[in-house]
Amino acid sequence: MMNLILVGPPGSGKGTQAKMLVDKYNIPQISTGDILREAVKEGSPLGKQAKDFMDKGALLPDEVVIGIIEERLKKPDCKGGFILDGFPRTVAQAEALGAILDKMDLKIEYLINIEIDDEELLKRLTGRRTCRKCGKGYHVVFDPPKNKDVCNKCKGELYQRDDDKEDTIKSRLKVYHQQTAPVVEFYQKKNTSRAINGLGKIDEVFQRITDIIERG
Ligand code: ADP
Ligand code: ADP
Ligand code: ZN
Repeated sequence: MMNLILVGPPGSGKGTQAKMLVDKYNIPQISTGDILREAVKEGSPLGKQAKDFMDKGALLPDEVVIGIIEERLKKPDCKGGFILDGFPRTVAQAEALGAILDKMDLKIEYLINIEIDDEELLKRLTGRRTCRKCGKGYHVVFDPPKNKDVCNKCKGELYQRDDDKEDTIKSRLKVYHQQTAPVVEFYQKKNTSRAINGLGKIDEVFQRITDIIERG
């Protein structure tokens, strides 16, 4: 059983690495960001609520995302393990996750903390392109698609996320340092936190993560 959390500032590579882990270990990626963007696209009540927060680079209320995660973790595909990407982002979310998992008799094996400096993040986020259909991320320079603006995997159209603009990026980085960094300390106390260097080629970072999964 492999229940993982990927944490790191926006642009650290959580989504990129999570999708590679899905392919290698056959366990689902649970990305609150992807779920919320999907809801915005559908125009559902959740999506209508989420859009303002996301455009500002602010976090949604804890109870909203906790509810989403609780429902998602009950689905049968999570039985063999899962990768949480972008959740928990506050200590209150981490505490709620603990309570949900206790009830299900599950626990987190590792929180993998992707460490990286703000300067690199800005370069990554301003060049990020995202598939409208499947959510896969690309980068115009660091990880370009085979055909311009077309997803390699599903042929969906690539677009620039509304929140990947310089002003919003700055707010999101601030939110990360203030609200999400304490989540790492929360798991450090439980001895489940493992830090990795997020700089380097995508494959090199992946190797660092699988080393932890396979060797602890
Ligand atoms: P990134 O990977 O670039 O940090 P995400 O796709 O994970 O961005 O999240 C995009 C936005 O969705 C966040 O800025 C926030 O508004 C909202 N969001 C995602 N996950 C959470 C969460 N766990 N709690 C609150 N808001 C969230
Ligand atoms: P997050 O989910 O943490 O916000 P992403 O996985 O979406 O981050 O990556 C942010 C951007 O950086 C994307 O454009 C992605 O293609 C690119 N990227 C991811 N990993 C690396 C890496 N190791 N080196 C260079 N660029 C990367
Ligand atoms: Zn796609």
